Amino acid sequence: MQNFGFQKPRDLAAAVAAAKKAPEGKYLGGGQSLLPVMKLGLAAPSELIALSGLAELKGVRVEGKELVIGAGTTHAEVAASAEVKKAIPALADLAGHIGDPQVRNRGTLGGSLAHDDPSADYPAAVLALGATVVTDRRRIAADAFFQGMFQTALAPDEVITAVRFPLPEKAAYAKFPHPASKFALVGVFVARGAGGVRVAVTGAGPSVHRSAPLEKALAARFAPEALAGVAVPAGGLQNDPFGSAEYRAHLVAVMARRAVAACG
Ligand SMILES: Cc1cc2nc3c(=O)[nH]c(=O)nc-3n(C[C@H](O)[C@H](O)[C@H](O)COP(=O)(O)OP(=O)(O)OC[C@H]3O[C@@H](n4cnc5c(N)ncnc54)[C@H](O)[C@@H]3O)c2cc1C
Repeated sequence: MQNFGFQKPRDLAAAVAAAKKAPEGKYLGGGQSLLPVMKLGLAAPSELIALSGLAELKGVRVEGKELVIGAGTTHAEVAASAEVKKAIPALADLAGHIGDPQVRNRGTLGGSLAHDDPSADYPAAVLALGATVVTDRRRIAADAFFQGMFQTALAPDEVITAVRFPLPEKAAYAKFPHPASKFALVGVFVARGAGGVRVAVTGAGPSVHRSAPLEKALAARFAPEALAGVAVPAGGLQNDPFGSAEYRAHLVAVMARRAVAACG
């Protein structure tokens, strides 16, 4: 790891100003992805700008037909939140199965989305629920936010402040976890709501993505049986020592059936 400066701004404006002054700087959420990346020498920011002191990034609340979660909310806080459990229980369940207790107590919603690991859990929920990512300067629809492996629509000095999740009629997440890290070898989040049926897949491909064949089958009939015989193409899926593309395609169909069954 190389030397770096450290700042802990007291408000959002000061954090963004610090990032604009340090073009090689990086925001620090819970450090559960950024610090490992720095230790591996894959990133060497000149300055870390900690977001943990920003009140603007805190809080969980329901506003009309949306659940709003501050970007600085930890995975453990989401998992334990009575508001989240009532509004979107699948989201609390997802957060409670991220990594281990240390990761859940430090890692944040905003950090997970900004990092956009292709095997991360939250991106599947954000995409399937048709959520909106709110930043210090704009609102970004989930369909436009995720742009490829570790690639998002964020500008380098842009801070995620919150995520607005439309309340679904039904939603569930099923994950086949890597036994060591608990990252998704394959995870499927299924949601039905005002925007119709949306199915998002994580872990299987180079980036979180929606599955057109699964959405079509579930739009016709929202039941696990509707997925019998639906083929998930293996083309473009990850092929690595943890699983072949064909195995991952098989798992996508299995996880989708489990998620729909869990919707009740
Ligand atoms: C052992 C281990 C197991 C894990 N298992 C899982 C798992 O099962 N599922 C899963 O989904 N994840 C898993 N993770 C990743 C974990 O969820 C991280 O918490 C998350 O990826 C990053 O969140 P963070 O707050 O720690 O962000 P950081 O590591 O601090 O930052 C990550 C990136 O996001 C940027 N950033 C942080 N916050 C913001 C913000 N508000 N606005 C803009 N940019 C921001 C940083 O500059 C950096 O580029 C695991 C991690 C570890 C170490």
